Parts: sequence; structure tokens; C-alpha cells
Amino acid sequence: MASKVGTKARSPIREFDLIRTLQQRHGRKSSSVIRGIGDDAAVVTSGARQWSVLTTDLLAEGIHFDLRTAMMADIGFRAAAANLSDIAAMGATPQYILVSLAIPRTGTSDQVQQLYRGMMAACRPHRVDLIGGDTSASDSGWFISVTLVGMVPPRKALFRSGARNGDLLYVTGTIGDSLAGLMLLNERPPRKTQRPGTAALSPRHRQFLIGRHLRPTARIAEGQWLSSHRLATSAIDISDGLSGDLRHICEESHVGAELDLGALPLSPACRTYAAARRLDPVALALTGGEDYELLFTLSPRHQAQAEQAAKTLRFRITCVGAIRPARQGIQAVGPDGGTRPLPITSYEHFR
Ligand code: ADP
Ligand code: MG
Repeated sequence: MASKVGTKARSPIREFDLIRTLQQRHGRKSSSVIRGIGDDAAVVTSGARQWSVLTTDLLAEGIHFDLRTAMMADIGFRAAAANLSDIAAMGATPQYILVSLAIPRTGTSDQVQQLYRGMMAACRPHRVDLIGGDTSASDSGWFISVTLVGMVPPRKALFRSGARNGDLLYVTGTIGDSLAGLMLLNERPPRKTQRPGTAALSPRHRQFLIGRHLRPTARIAEGQWLSSHRLATSAIDISDGLSGDLRHICEESHVGAELDLGALPLSPACRTYAAARRLDPVALALTGGEDYELLFTLSPRHQAQAEQAAKTLRFRITCVGAIRPARQGIQAVGPDGGTRPLPITSYEHFR
């Protein structure tokens, strides 16, 4: 999982290179492992009737959250939602959660209760049961490790690796909201004498954006729909930012892509925020991770069927581009129709 809060330590470790090395050196798999390291979740067979889907995330105080600004319940909600989102990206159904905690000496049982209240609030709509974990003391802040277990019918899992040249590129929901919400939270409280434009953001828009950051929705139903009807050829959840996560799909699928910047689905609140702060809303959408929307690809022959069904089911999906041959790389199509290489700006730890 990615985070917007970085470590200041200058370390030679590069997160994605590290993962690739681990995958190559230690990622050998037996025949029951359908997918190991390298996707949103691992997939293993568990009998003929279902595949199990497993994902885990580690959150560290000071790296992923700051207790001076974040509430324990929100931290818990986001931790569970991020893992649920990885399960959604596989097209799977979440079932069980395991939580391991390292608690600093200053931690209180009230904080732990709040944390779990938030986590269970994210899990409850999906009937996910807490079934275990581990607890330790910590001499350096909180550590929260969340593991989610889910299931998917055999051969229905969605991978990052299935995109083909000519497929259409789609996203669910709206993107950029979470980063706008984070930026709002990081702004100093508005004073009477406000900067020009600040007043343009209504309390409703403000609440919406902050809510999208603190309590993101994992697109479980959308993922299940895409997998059960075999609509998507590949999928990933947007946790590192649209441009970075698109790169993951392209690398795993050995393809290129064209992203239509004018087509990105932006919420009215995000547009209003960007206008008020003189920011480019498209930049918010491209670089803002943690929207936890799904980015997926679809064969053009399924386009009409998918769009019609999405309308009936009230799933918001937007076509934002297409898959191209690998040699074209990843291109951004501007408002004038011209293309240029898409800047890749995903968050990496240790950088
Ligand atoms: P996401 O953002 O979807 O949570 P990550 O970037 O955290 O994905 O992980 C990508 C892949 O690398 C996943 O398959 C994950 O299980 C694997 N991975 C990440 N860290 C490690 C690690 N320390 N050891 C083994 N596998 C890892
Ligand atoms: Mg993911």
C-alpha cells in the first residue's frame, strides 16, 4: 500500500524494485498458488469450488498516519478500506480480517477500541468477520497490520496482467477527491481574512472531500460485477495514483496505453476546490492516490453491455482511454487531441 507521508531517511531501497527482487528470489510457488507477489492480492486454490484471495497492509505511525491530526477510528476505517479495496480489485468477496497491533507504551485501551470501531465500520457492510491477529508492545509508535481474506470462484479473479491492445480503459467513481480532502485537512484553519477564492468551497463540498479521504469506499460490488460477468480483462485499485496504477497494469500486461485527460471523472467538489486554490484538477486526479476506485480494462465488444448494466446497477463507470501496444508507452491525450508521455508520479516509500 502507498501513503502520502514519506520517510525522511535517505535509503537506497526502492520499494517497487525491492518487491520485484523478493518476487524473483523468494516468490517460487507451488501449484496451489494461482497468483503470488505482484498483484493487489494473492490468489490460492482452496478446493475445487473456490479460490482464496489474501492481502495484507502495514501502517506505521509517522509514515501512514499522524495521531496529532488523525482520529483512531478514521485510521482504522482507512486501514480496512484499503485492504477491502485490494479484494475488490481482484473481483473477489471479502470474508475475514486479521489485525496485528504494536502499541506504544503511551497507547490507551480507548484508542484501541476506537481503532477497531473504525475498522469494523468499514467491514460491516460486507459482513467481514474479525477472526484473529496479534498484539505486541512498541518502543517506536503504533504499527497496524491488517490482513484480509476473501474468495472468488475459480478462474474468475481479475488480475493486473490481462489487458490487451485495443481494450478500453475505465475507472469507477470520481478521482482526485481523496487528495483534495487531504490537502484541505492539512490547510491551516481558515481565518476571517481568507485568501481569494477560499470562500468558494461550501461546507458540503468540504465535508464530501474530507469524507472521501478519511472514509473511502472500497468498490466491492463493482469488482464482483466485473468478475462474475467476465467483463473486465484486468483490474487494479487506485491506491498509488491513477498514473502509477495505470503503469502497474501496463507493466504486468506488457502493453501501452492512451489516457484521455479530458475524460477523467472529477466531482463537482474537486473541481470547485481546485478552482478555489488555483490548482489543476487533472493533476489532483493523476497524482492523488488513495481514491480506492477501480481502474479496469474492457474489450470493446463488451462496452455497450457494460455501460448499460452499470446504468441499471447505478455504478458510475467512465471510459478514460484505451490500451495500446507496449512500444507506444503510456501517453496522455490533451484537450487539443495532442499526445505526450504521461508523467508517472506514484508514491514510493524510501524515495
Ligand atoms: P497494494 O498497493 O495493492 O497494496 P503493494 O505495492 O503493497 O500493493 O504490493 C504489491 C505486491 O508486492 C503484492 O503482491 C504484495 O503482496 C507484494 N509485497 C509487498 N511487500 C512485500 C514484502 N515485504 N514481501 C513479500 N511480498 C511483498
Ligand atoms: Mg492495490
